[in-house]
Amino acid sequence: MNYKDILEKVFHDTKGLTNKGKIATYIPELANVNPTMFGVHMTNLTGEGYGMGNNLVKFSIQSIAKVFSLTLAYRILGEEIWKRVDVEPSGTKFDSLLLLEINNGIPRNPFINSGAIVICDILVSHLGNARKEFLAFVRDLSNLPNLSYSDKIADSEKANGYRNVALCNFIKSLGNIKNDPTEVLDFYFDMCSLEMNCEQLSYAFTYLANGGLKISDSSEVITKPQSKRINALMLTCGFYDESGEFAFKVGLPGKSGVGGGIVALYPHSYTIAVWSPPLNPNGNSFLGMKFLEEFTTHSDFTIF
Ligand code: GLN
Repeated sequence: MNYKDILEKVFHDTKGLTNKGKIATYIPELANVNPTMFGVHMTNLTGEGYGMGNNLVKFSIQSIAKVFSLTLAYRILGEEIWKRVDVEPSGTKFDSLLLLEINNGIPRNPFINSGAIVICDILVSHLGNARKEFLAFVRDLSNLPNLSYSDKIADSEKANGYRNVALCNFIKSLGNIKNDPTEVLDFYFDMCSLEMNCEQLSYAFTYLANGGLKISDSSEVITKPQSKRINALMLTCGFYDESGEFAFKVGLPGKSGVGGGIVALYPHSYTIAVWSPPLNPNGNSFLGMKFLEEFTTHSDFTIF
């Protein structure tokens, strides 16, 4: 079977499953999404793509944006970045405060909220206008000149993001946030509010399957060793407390978001984005996880 036939078969099989997930409601605006949405899109390194279902409907990418912010901060700071954030799985929920005190305000990795907030602090320190320059960076990566933040989603999270406020202030008290916490959090909420569809998202991630180079013109986004490390972090930390399980069941580097999106990739081969809003108890898309497990288990599209 070719990849299109496999994608279609797995998509239809997964669609038939009972969705036991629940939509995220702690960001009120996210609760307005249609829970039956289900889309998938695969892009190879020549830019050719194939998708189905609601693959062209935009959704809130949320924590998936943390891969873009890490990429930009890593490009700016180089290896110095690992003084501010660690590279170990957390074994805790994405918004946990638990390990920060023990680790002196150094978050376990850049993909849990605490780590992503520190990355935002780094970008606020090094960019004249982090909000504007980060958006320009993602617009360029994804070849979407009109991509923008969703004020509706960002405002909804700003009004309710008590845990993130607590995380940022706690890290500030431990000395690992250098700027005003309100400014850092405003940028963090904006970053999480980006909206993209599966086709756009799978395309935007191709640089990580392509050794750090954009597939459109081979320009360098990050170096090859940096790309290797971001992939390693996605494999070990991309799914919070379910990262081991994702590696075990799917076997690809990837990143999820509470909007129900997941992006995964096979280095030197392809990227794939899947979206279904209801989440499992670990905050990862219930159907998205099932889809990717089936897809890599019944095909050769897996690194292991
Ligand atoms: N903006 C969300 C939050 O901070 C992102 C979390 C996620 O996607 N896992 O809670």
